[in-house]
Amino acid sequence: MRILKADHPLIAHKLTYLRDKRTDSPTFRRLAEELMTLLAYEATRDVRVEPFPIETPVAPTTGIKLANPKPLIVPILRAGLGMLEGMVRLLPSAEVGFLGMQRDEETLAITTYANRLPEDLTGRQVYVLDPMLATGGSMADALRFLIERGADDITAVCLLAAPEGIAHLTREMADVTPPITLVVGSVDERLNEKGYIVPGLGDAGDRLYGVV
Ligand code: URA
Repeated sequence: MRILKADHPLIAHKLTYLRDKRTDSPTFRRLAEELMTLLAYEATRDVRVEPFPIETPVAPTTGIKLANPKPLIVPILRAGLGMLEGMVRLLPSAEVGFLGMQRDEETLAITTYANRLPEDLTGRQVYVLDPMLATGGSMADALRFLIERGADDITAVCLLAAPEGIAHLTREMADVTPPITLVVGSVDERLNEKGYIVPGLGDAGDRLYGVV
């Protein structure tokens, strides 16, 4: 698995405000979107393109455009929704699928409770969005789910990651055929005993949408 850690002062600046417990939900949502757009620039470096002949007012030339089939963006519900707008702003012609994965707070076991994805993802380039890579369990499940449906190139984008989550995902993805890339805004210190990233930002879903 290829790991790209963002190294940009604007990303670090926005992450600092995102982490701050005084940041309210509307500001948190705006920052998550902006961070996603900045990370998307890195995440889409290898997006598939094809030649596209055009004429400028001066001369004919050949540029490029996104290849078909268009990329599929998959936010993991619910916190991944907070990154969706920031991604589609950069890739407006991409399709969007949804995957709901839930963590049992006691056992930390993961279950899939929602799935709105094309049955066949053969030949698709997929971008998976989840702000927090904590244990790595739900992300590994999501990636396996997509690989089983035929996705042949997957980039996972996370705002924060724990070293434990990166290590778990690296192990889980060691035997898969499609290329897997992980793009992260920051790698934090560790996970605590409740499965939260330290220093992290708390529960990303709650901070985006409130405690429901
Ligand atoms: N999910 C979150 O929202 N926050 C964490 O710190 C870990 C998992």
